[in-house]
Amino acid sequence: MDIFLMFLTCLTRLSRYTFPAMKKGIHPQMFQEAKATCTACGAVFAIPSTVKEVTVEICRMCHPVYTGKKQGEARGGRIERFRKRMAAGKKQEK
Ligand SMILES: [Zn+2]
Repeated sequence: MDIFLMFLTCLTRLSRYTFPAMKKGIHPQMFQEAKATCTACGAVFAIPSTVKEVTVEICRMCHPVYTGKKQGEARGGRIERFRKRMAAGKKQEK
């Protein structure tokens, strides 16, 4: 008998004791492909959820951590305005 197969058999026998079947009648229904809509960028993607439709305020398509863009630069916020002001000031000096 293959040693790997023996290992797998042991593992499945063990898992019966370590991960018992879920108790019936207490768990909510799970939707593996629930529709998630991002309100920030409008992206629609599938996520596992207990409700069929979910709206999120930020997602992996538009969050600065995942996109790599700095938030101030993307929005054209305070940092960008400050840099414009500094550039304008330097031009006037010359
Ligand atoms: Zn998004």
